[in-house]
Amino acid sequence: MTSRRHFLSLAAASAAAYAARPLLGAQPVTFDLLIRGGRVIDPVARLDAVRDVAIAGGRIAAVSANISGGAVDTVDATGKLVVPGLLDIHTHVGRSADGPGLVLQDGVTGWIDAGSTGADGIADTVAVARSSVQPGRVLVNIGRLGVVADGDTMDLARADVAAAKNAIAMHREFVVGVKARLSRDVAGANDYEVLRRAKEVASAFKLPVMIHMGQTQSTIPRLFDLLTRGDIVTHMFAPPPNAIVDDAGRILPAVLAARKRGVWFDVGNGQTGHMRWDTIEAIVKAGFWPDTFSTDWNTNSRTTGVVDLPNCMSKLLGYGMTVSQAVACVTSNAARPFPVFGGRGTLKVGAPADVALLELREGRFEFLDNYKNTITGRQRFFPAGTVLGGKRIARA
Ligand SMILES: [Zn+2]
Repeated sequence: MTSRRHFLSLAAASAAAYAARPLLGAQPVTFDLLIRGGRVIDPVARLDAVRDVAIAGGRIAAVSANISGGAVDTVDATGKLVVPGLLDIHTHVGRSADGPGLVLQDGVTGWIDAGSTGADGIADTVAVARSSVQPGRVLVNIGRLGVVADGDTMDLARADVAAAKNAIAMHREFVVGVKARLSRDVAGANDYEVLRRAKEVASAFKLPVMIHMGQTQSTIPRLFDLLTRGDIVTHMFAPPPNAIVDDAGRILPAVLAARKRGVWFDVGNGQTGHMRWDTIEAIVKAGFWPDTFSTDWNTNSRTTGVVDLPNCMSKLLGYGMTVSQAVACVTSNAARPFPVFGGRGTLKVGAPADVALLELREGRFEFLDNYKNTITGRQRFFPAGTVLGGKRIARA
């Protein structure tokens, strides 16, 4: 028997529910998931406003203020950002079987492994991509041994065109480009020839090359001359020698020309040698902003200056990048270089229902470059939930 006190509390709870969602009881369940009341940022739709997002059949079904209609599951996103699932185009997620699940917790619903393995080990990385719950793809390292301590292509014979072509042909569905790491301690004096071979492999399959720039033996104009539309420059904030900005604060003409012909510029946070605050300041002061943020993620990223993709995308807020631009760098922009992400990076109706919930906290946050220098920022993005294909991912 229901006690009177219990009955009253039930009535109060149901009245409160009706006040919040007046028509819920009266309408059939229409949606699988309803994300209510968050600040929805969708750069493609030029939207930045408090909205509800409704999901049905693994797709975005509606985005508008106060969506009526019931849902099987509801998320209260009040006070949070609701953005398209994050895409990280430079990671090493493919190094470990648990990589995809770990970055999914950070809101990452699509990843690219950038050259962890070359032709010899590609099957292992492809296996991780194949088993990943979110779309994961792989760039084959032009050095057939992949990333190795003594330098991927210090021995030029390792930049084996035939082996790399064969690796792509064997795994056509999962290998979406070629990675060429060009710094002095990786390629030595071979950098130009290594890039030339990487282009030879990639162009045979109409795929892009991603170059790891900075601290190279050859100059930027010489190397960038080989890059064509759709190629990607990662570690764009690498300090001198061979930064993209000169001592007088001017972006090199070869860099501006590369962007103009459709080469993408990516951050590739990483841990050593890839970003220094003074170089970053000079580059953004010259008006040259990244197309994409990426982490260069590894299983140890929690304990380095990387932490997670939301942390990396917070780092330019203090330099004048807007919240919406930072979101674009890991969603709509990041969807463009790789066809696997086509149709993603947006919350438009009909898009795959991949959503990242973020908290944008205000306070004092320390951000680390790759040289142990810190800056203090007043805002930082934190992961606060992931929806993949319309399903809420449990927090670990
Ligand atoms: Zn990397």
